[in-house]
Amino acid sequence: MFDLKDQVALVTGAARGIGRTIADSLAKSGATVVLADFADWDAELQIVGDRTYGVRLDVTDPEAVKGVIGQIVDQLGRLDILVNNAGITRDGLLMRMKEEDWRKVLSTNLDGVFYLTKEAVSRMMRQRYGRIINIASVVGQMGNPGQANYVASKSGVIGLTKAVAREVASRNITVNAVAPGYIATAMTEDLPDSAKQELQKMIPLGRIGTVEDIASGVLFLASKEAGYITGHVLNINGGMYM
Ligand code: NDP
Repeated sequence: MFDLKDQVALVTGAARGIGRTIADSLAKSGATVVLADFADWDAELQIVGDRTYGVRLDVTDPEAVKGVIGQIVDQLGRLDILVNNAGITRDGLLMRMKEEDWRKVLSTNLDGVFYLTKEAVSRMMRQRYGRIINIASVVGQMGNPGQANYVASKSGVIGLTKAVAREVASRNITVNAVAPGYIATAMTEDLPDSAKQELQKMIPLGRIGTVEDIASGVLFLASKEAGYITGHVLNINGGMYM
């Protein structure tokens, strides 16, 4: 559908779930893709498939982020596409939320995006080309009880997206967010059945989203064809929030 030949992409949190499918779809469109995740691989780029590399990366560690982006540019020559996908939840009502759970979620979901974006932008500016796609969430737009930390982090991601989009537009770098609704992955499988049923009732299209639903939106925003779109939040939520 879109041709990403000769482009290099980095996807964080790509060992499984939404990130894995995003990485696969970028690779199928011709990009060389680096999958970065917490624990699954070595600290050096290792080949894990055709034009696909894996690397261990904790997005909360700014030195490690510099190291991985440095390796990508040194070994693969450039960095065209960054997908900030790594994210976690530590749910609980505000009154019972431990400071540790607040900090952990903000650190992974927001600080991580800051470190990666800052490092990637410095490389993309020299290339005069880049596509940054940040995975936010519908709850960052709507709010959700029991997720003050997660909601704050995802609203923060949306704000960061818009601010950076304005800063780097003159260098031909676009920065957009994708806001998924309720998607079937490990992150959501532990929800009680009653909560799942309630959520499904809120979705006009009447079904839970798939990882492919998200990957196709990301692929579009990563393509050259999306070159006049920046600072946008693409809702992929079955109509849950409009
Ligand atoms: P998963 O939990 O299935 O996958 C997330 C991946 O990120 C895991 O492989 C995880 O590794 C990795 N990860 C966690 N912390 C770090 C870190 N510090 N550094 C590097 N990698 C890390 O989540 P989903 O695929 O469901 O979610 C992907 C993104 O989509 C997240 O940002 C999430 O907030 C967002 N999202 C998801 C929705 C859903 O309904 N599923 C809805 C809205 C948004 P490990 O397994 O080792 O922890």
